[in-house]
Amino acid sequence: MTQYLSVLVQTPAHSAVSGPLTYRSEAVLSPGTLVRVPLGTRETLGVVWVSDPGANPALDSGKIRSVSSVLDAIAPLGESWQQLVAFAANYYQRSAGEVALAALPPQLRDLTPLQLARHMKRSAKQAAGAEGSSAPASPPAELSAEQAQAVAAFHAQAGPFLLFGATGSGKTEVYLQCVAQLLASDPQAQAMVMVPEINLTPQLEARFVARFAPLYGPQAVVAMHSGMTPAQRLKAWLAAHAGVARIMLGTRMAVFASMPGLKLIVVDEEHDPSYKQQEGARYSARDLAVYRARLDRAKVLLGSATPSLESWHHSRPASEGGRYVRLEMPSRIGALAALPQVRRVDMNHQPKRAVFSPPLLDAIIQRAERGEQSMILLNRRGYAPVLNCSACDWKSQCPHCSAFRVFHKIDRTLRCHHCGFTERVPRACPDCGNLDLETVGRGTERLEEHLAELLVDVRRPNQQPLRVARIDADTTRLKGALESQLAQVHAGEVDVLVGTQMIAKGHDFRRITLVAAINPDGALFSSDFRAGERLFSLLMQAAGRAGRDADISAAAEMWIQTFHPQHPLFEALKRHDYPAFAAQQLTERAQAGLPPFSFQALVRAEARTQEVAQAFLAAASERVSATAEQVNVTLYPPVPMSMQRVANVERAQMLVESPSRAALQRFLAAWHEVLHATRALPQAKGLMRWSIDVDPLAI
Ligand code: ADP
Ligand code: ZN
Ligand code: ZN
Repeated sequence: MTQYLSVLVQTPAHSAVSGPLTYRSEAVLSPGTLVRVPLGTRETLGVVWVSDPGANPALDSGKIRSVSSVLDAIAPLGESWQQLVAFAANYYQRSAGEVALAALPPQLRDLTPLQLARHMKRSAKQAAGAEGSSAPASPPAELSAEQAQAVAAFHAQAGPFLLFGATGSGKTEVYLQCVAQLLASDPQAQAMVMVPEINLTPQLEARFVARFAPLYGPQAVVAMHSGMTPAQRLKAWLAAHAGVARIMLGTRMAVFASMPGLKLIVVDEEHDPSYKQQEGARYSARDLAVYRARLDRAKVLLGSATPSLESWHHSRPASEGGRYVRLEMPSRIGALAALPQVRRVDMNHQPKRAVFSPPLLDAIIQRAERGEQSMILLNRRGYAPVLNCSACDWKSQCPHCSAFRVFHKIDRTLRCHHCGFTERVPRACPDCGNLDLETVGRGTERLEEHLAELLVDVRRPNQQPLRVARIDADTTRLKGALESQLAQVHAGEVDVLVGTQMIAKGHDFRRITLVAAINPDGALFSSDFRAGERLFSLLMQAAGRAGRDADISAAAEMWIQTFHPQHPLFEALKRHDYPAFAAQQLTERAQAGLPPFSFQALVRAEARTQEVAQAFLAAASERVSATAEQVNVTLYPPVPMSMQRVANVERAQMLVESPSRAALQRFLAAWHEVLHATRALPQAKGLMRWSIDVDPLAI
């Protein structure tokens, strides 16, 4: 008998066909089944969404096309996966088809049922033939008292949990043991462990493989991140979907993996901004993890030394309305000893224009002479952010963006970090011909050069000259470059490491005893209300890199060069006192009605002119301003984005805010149609794109 099915397919964002499409099928197919369906002149992958959507009078049944084939070599996607996709699409204001198809491994889109069946057979054979690893499982560490308490509390309660553990308190071991107990107690159970960055996955993967592959086989641990080939991603995805993989480690995309036995989700470094997707459906993988855990009746464990203020606020005592259980591990693991001492250098009392204050330079030299390493942080790559003509005031403005092009000395280019526009450095000022162009400010490249000059006469204990190295996005463009540069630092070949925030996270540098932030003041007075939170967490993470070697950790120090040494952020940092910092920030946020005390969305518009971008937003907001007021939603006027023009596109945004998440959600859902319709108005002529960012991280 002929069935009618709703099928999700990948449709262009905001296109007219954003709901599921109807197809006919002779076989009964349950929701979650993967099918291939005709779409226009091509055939495409689809997910059966609802079987028998009922008679739809708008549809002429003669025009409904048939499902081409069914990918029946694998089980349909489960109900909770479907619910997760539906929720994410609704919450982040995108189509379910877009979210569902983006959540599947790209290679699945091109496989016929026959090819998929062959693929499944091959991997089943491989699994059967694979020798269980003969290496003994790496034994679990004897837990510290704090770790043991955290693990016990995790097992005793339902959560969600926030593991608030200092850098070096052994959070990873807690994750390992929570996963171990789960897998041992339930042969079907699966766990997901998320990390913010791909370059942190290999270390973590090695630890999980060493612990679990000997117990559960080589296929038990799989990874999921954008650095994998399409074939690797498909293989890992299928292993998780089939329940063969017991543990999935991955970046934010892993949150959508199909895991029918999911019982535990760990989100490591839960505060990290890279959990937020920045295009398409702009989801927060951390927030979806918490939601998904509820759908799957799984436990969820968020971990951080500097939690996001949202998660911290959720973990306040239940008596004050908190919903998360806070687990605390304030101490570093035994040998790691104390956290580094924080020293502030008041730059008001240092020689003018000194990049390195004399005391900091002395401290770096002393370390190098003892054979210890230092790490210098500056959050700006390139040689100098601006090139300037002193005669006529020409500056290296990007012709396509509202930004300066950065001077890169190494290949003598001016490069725009926003649109990529690159030119050779001009010999003379393009406007007046002056030969004397000067650099303004400094980036990591210049810092590296400057430091090498300052340290040219310093010797290591073995009388060799020092080696200064730099790690940033420019030095690590090539595949494998970051790994090899990190390996050199680990091997002790580098005495002073200069870099951007890239080096502050996660890496277990053994012999670093000094970490210095050269110029962190910018974030103290930023217009972005989250800048302070990000700076504090960056500096805490960076400080956590120092003093990880038992023999020398007593002398570990974190140096801050600042013109505002009394700033409360630095006061709290000095005491390693995240709770005090968070309390102060939350007080300010509560007074200003900012998240987590309110909920926000940004609507962004892009056009050739700023007028059009703003006119679109203004028109769309005018049509709903009366409703917004009634439902307790505030619409702010459209403004240019802080990076107003990128690649010749003018950008504007509008903030939407409400004290109620539900009210904001209802409002956005209704507004979506209006935004669509506004596009057709004469004011919006020339609009290129618009998008909604729910719970935006940067405003
Ligand atoms: P965090 O992620 O909290 O910063 P890690 O998990 O990296 O901390 O642990 C810091 C170091 O302490 C690692 O080298 C780890 O192997 C070690 N470690 C963790 N737990 C224990 C333990 N119970 N006994 C001994 N060493 C441990
Ligand atoms: Zn000039
Ligand atoms: Zn540009």
